[in-house]
Amino acid sequence: MRCPKCGFRDDKVIDSRQSRDSSSIRRRRVCLQCAYRFTTYEQIERSDLRVVKRDRTHEPFDRRKLVNSLAKACEKRSISLVTLETAVDEIVHELETSGREVASSAIGAKVLEKLRVIDEVAYLRYASVHRRFEEAGQFVDAIQALGRRVKPNALQPELFAPEAAGKLPSAAGAPETAVETHGRV
Ligand SMILES: [Zn+2]
Repeated sequence: MRCPKCGFRDDKVIDSRQSRDSSSIRRRRVCLQCAYRFTTYEQIERSDLRVVKRDRTHEPFDRRKLVNSLAKACEKRSISLVTLETAVDEIVHELETSGREVASSAIGAKVLEKLRVIDEVAYLRYASVHRRFEEAGQFVDAIQALGRRVKPNALQPELFAPEAAGKLPSAAGAPETAVETHGRV
């Protein structure tokens, strides 16, 4: 780095620390000629990762969106933001190292992989919202497997978003069928 005061081209880093969210590193430097101290910031080059959606349209990858979808699935599950952010960091890293384009379904699969480990209720919520279960039967199997380990009463009110529950009596699509079946578990 060229010294902003005297223009000398050599300096020494005297301190470096990460920003709170670990997205940048701040370095304090001292000019080796005039001892002027200045600061530089190092950041990851903005990702140009693109998401290919189910309808084959593309959109720029949005980390915020990913965080929000995980946070929504984890609502009231006492999972720390740090845990979620770490999971997202890992997912983003995996996506960025695997290419410039990624299918939205591949992102969903990675999210499920993480949530399965973090919290099974959140995992099922995410799966139901994003319709990742190809058949209702698969979903019921998962619910039943979970039911053997978690008190069903504790699980049921949290498992579905209010809007999904509201649609219950009238709609007859596959996810709703799964919901009704769940009611009898
Ligand atoms: Zn200098």
